[in-house]
Amino acid sequence: SGCGICTKRCPFKAISVINLPEALEDPVHRYGQNMFELFGLPTVTEGDVIGLIGPNGIGKSTIIRILSGELRPNLGNFQDPPGWDEVINHFRGSQLQNYFQNLSEGKVTVVHKPQMVDKIPKYVKGKVEDLLLSIDSKRTDEVVETLEIGEIMGREISNLSGGELQSVAIAAAALREADFYYFDEPTSWLDVRQRLNAIRVIRSLAEAGKSVMVIEHDMAALDAMSDYVHILYGKPGGYGVVSNRRGVRVGINTYIRGFLREENVRFRDHEIEFKVKPPRAEEEGEVLVEYSKMIKSHAAFSLNVEEGTVYLNEVVTAFGPNGIGKTTFARILAGVEKPDEGNVKRKIKISYKPQYLSSDYAGTVEEFLYANAPSYGSNLFKSEIMRPFNLEEILDKAVNELSGGELQRLAVAVALSRDAELYVLDEPTAFLDVEQRLLAAKAIRRIIESRNASAMIIDHDIIFIDYISDRAMVFSGKPGVEGRAGSPTELREAMNTFLSETGITFRRDKETKRPRVNKPGSFLDRQQKEMGEYYYLK
Ligand code: ADP
Ligand code: ADP
Ligand code: MG
Ligand code: MG
Repeated sequence: SGCGICTKRCPFKAISVINLPEALEDPVHRYGQNMFELFGLPTVTEGDVIGLIGPNGIGKSTIIRILSGELRPNLGNFQDPPGWDEVINHFRGSQLQNYFQNLSEGKVTVVHKPQMVDKIPKYVKGKVEDLLLSIDSKRTDEVVETLEIGEIMGREISNLSGGELQSVAIAAAALREADFYYFDEPTSWLDVRQRLNAIRVIRSLAEAGKSVMVIEHDMAALDAMSDYVHILYGKPGGYGVVSNRRGVRVGINTYIRGFLREENVRFRDHEIEFKVKPPRAEEEGEVLVEYSKMIKSHAAFSLNVEEGTVYLNEVVTAFGPNGIGKTTFARILAGVEKPDEGNVKRKIKISYKPQYLSSDYAGTVEEFLYANAPSYGSNLFKSEIMRPFNLEEILDKAVNELSGGELQRLAVAVALSRDAELYVLDEPTAFLDVEQRLLAAKAIRRIIESRNASAMIIDHDIIFIDYISDRAMVFSGKPGVEGRAGSPTELREAMNTFLSETGITFRRDKETKRPRVNKPGSFLDRQQKEMGEYYYLK
């Protein structure tokens, strides 16, 4: 345990920094005594999208706050922060010298799409169109069309859903005229189609010669939008180091391997492995849950569910656009809502993690676990839940002060700690970083195996879905109006249905076997569409 730099045990057990990188002698910023320190900064270049990948709490948002001029780097001297002259001098000879020179003189314009879009309604009032039209850009129509937000132009910002707010925030940033564009986690809350729309808008800025930087935890999205990536490693909450920049393909593969050759740093003790072939559906498996055709109507919305079966010991994922009835379906399965017609046969024990989490609990995480996680304290809980969700480090925190990712880890952990036959998890990866998503996938698998249970998981992250699914079900229809839930089928079939509606195809990276989005209109894209194989190549 321990990485040789810090004395505490590292959150990622496996983390070990083999060589002390030179950068570690020279911080760019330090928040205070015994507080987070940042080493190194990424490079920004015109006409490129630079991606940042790394765990939560490693300094990604700090970097964007520094580069956007919101935070002047103190070079580690938090007691007597240096002025711009000293900062500029510090970076002499590098591209950043010029950058900070211009930034300090107000000669560059910077736009920053913040991470927490849910805070926007506090500061921005009025209708979506008031906001977007006030920016006075020639590109408004084009951006609104690409993001498919025409229908919400007349809505009040305070009434938007998370996904709508994110799209509006991306539009507002992209419409502003600037030299540098910074997007902090642009895909949170978005469905796959909206993610692709966001990627198009972000790429179009780079194609117009702008400098763009994004922080992103959806590896497929990061891959599709970036030209280069910097990996961040270190000790979340303690210190973060910015790696050299790598081409996007090599960079993400490097991240998957967990080893930075040039820097001689290993930050994970294993490579992330991907399946290449579709999982085999358990045709003769033992039936756990069966449901008939079901209908459920809300005010202006109606959902039609095709009959379906969940077998013992399988993970079924469910995906589709926002506002199509996925959460409604999860609530019916969990018994929180009753369908108007049809029913779920077989009474089974269900553990349900809702999509929207409330954090109004007054006590600490430890108290919350003590009261809500039945097996808390057991060895099984320690090894199968506490460790993968890294709860140790948040035990003393107040639940109502947790970050989005911390609250998600707690909620998924509590859901998995209950003894159940079916785990229904609605968007468990929201706000988790790449590493936490994969750890969560493994933990869910192990729990359902050891409990002889099954899981129904709603999610938008294709790589997570690829990693965890045995079978899948697709939701389609008209968001906010009508939804149709298909029966659970083989993953290949579900992916083909879903991706043909979304209009994208995936190939596999030759080295790591991770799924990569094909360029629209490329040879593979056309060939796969012709064959009807949107996801797996024969
Ligand atoms: P990331 O975006 O990679 O999740 P951040 O840059 O937001 O990480 O934060 C890195 C670390 O710095 C975290 O431990 C965070 O708690 C800490 N931090 C962020 N802002 C401040 C601040 N204003 N004062 C003190 N610590 C901060
Ligand atoms: P998803 O999870 O796919 O985003 P939801 O099941 O949350 O979709 O919602 C589907 C539609 O039903 C949305 O238009 C939503 O506004 C509407 N809806 C959901 N619950 C209610 C409710 N209790 N009352 C009225 N409308 C609702
Ligand atoms: Mg951040
Ligand atoms: Mg939902």
